[in-house]
Amino acid sequence: MSLISCPGCGLVHIDRGLPAVPDRAATGECAAEAGAVQAAFYAPDLLGYRQYVVDAYACLHADPSTRIGVQATALCLMTMDLYLECGQPVSEGSILHQEMMCGLVRTSSPPWRHRISMGS
Ligand SMILES: [Zn+2]
Repeated sequence: MSLISCPGCGLVHIDRGLPAVPDRAATGECAAEAGAVQAAFYAPDLLGYRQYVVDAYACLHADPSTRIGVQATALCLMTMDLYLECGQPVSEGSILHQEMMCGLVRTSSPPWRHRISMGS
């Protein structure tokens, strides 16, 4: 039995020979375990918190050598900030991601809508 360490999160897993995840800094073993955790969050009483798990995993396992990896990390960190510091419901995380991609960010108070400057 050999062990491998995930390049994203550093967790050590038993090497099952699973293929690495393309465009992610993750071993296949870590991705499989994360998939099981994320699936558990489909339970009705946990579903409203699932996006925390998805965003946290994405941040830890983004490939920093790619533009999409950097963008995904930024998107997930901004979304988690909106949950934790602005009171945005976690259940709206997917919608928040879509709005950020369009340059629109909501906060907990609907009148306070802001545009993100994507550079000028
Ligand atoms: Zn990992």
